[in-house]
Amino acid sequence: MTEHEGRIVVVTGAGSGIGAACCELFGSAGATVIGWDLRPSDESSTAVDVGDWDAVSAAADVLADLHGRVDVLVNCAGVITPNLSAEDVDPQDYRRNFDVNVMGIVHATKALHRLLVASDSAAIVNVASQAALVSLPCQTAYSASKGAVAALTRALAIDWAAQGIRVNAVCPGFTATPMAMGQMTPELDAAVSRRVPLGRIFQPAEIAEAIAFLGSRRASAITGVVLPVDGGWTAGEPALPM
Ligand code: NAP
Repeated sequence: MTEHEGRIVVVTGAGSGIGAACCELFGSAGATVIGWDLRPSDESSTAVDVGDWDAVSAAADVLADLHGRVDVLVNCAGVITPNLSAEDVDPQDYRRNFDVNVMGIVHATKALHRLLVASDSAAIVNVASQAALVSLPCQTAYSASKGAVAALTRALAIDWAAQGIRVNAVCPGFTATPMAMGQMTPELDAAVSRRVPLGRIFQPAEIAEAIAFLGSRRASAITGVVLPVDGGWTAGEPALPM
């Protein structure tokens, strides 16, 4: 597959999990992939804290000099804070989730806007979460930040449609990455698999497939969509034996 041949793709949160799977998939489809992460994993990655406007802005200037445009921006960098009932959540946990999950997207989209305008097929794909669509217990701060990502996606899609920039989001369900597996116990794994209509936790590559599609020319008519990639979690409960 070479449908991203010659395209310039920026992936935030590139060093791990879904972001790393996106780098691999876009790269194997012919794209030049630039990864931004706190800790760059190889020479094609750059150290960028997406929560830091000055760092993002400086990284965008480097890209402008090197490539002059960006065709696809995947906003994947994200954090989650510990599972706590709402009354026990420190306000700083809200700030941490919003600083990275929301402001990271604000920074990257604003800094790369002029480079996306320079593309003939620009697309932004934000990584939200099923928590943007249905409540997850003991994750008020993370859920609120991902709800903001969904709203921001629709708002950007409307503002930038006339400039030729499509903006969509995916809402992954439980996916086998360090972020999710760090909180996983055998009991939780079994309970999640029972709750997911497709009956399992997903692999990062499966989420990357949806992201690569939304970033491709094949999705040329799609903007402002917040797409669950969750094995049916947000569609409803698994079928009962009736
Ligand atoms: P992951 O394996 O922890 O990867 C997240 C990456 O983002 C890490 O490389 C991390 O770097 C990086 N990062 C964190 N803060 C950053 C910052 N300020 N600037 C730049 N990079 C930063 O997690 P993942 O599961 O792949 O998550 C990717 C996205 O999917 C997140 O937005 C997450 O909320 C979303 N998501 C995940 C799941 C799931 O079940 N896994 C479900 C729904 C949504 P360090 O490792 O150095 O901290």
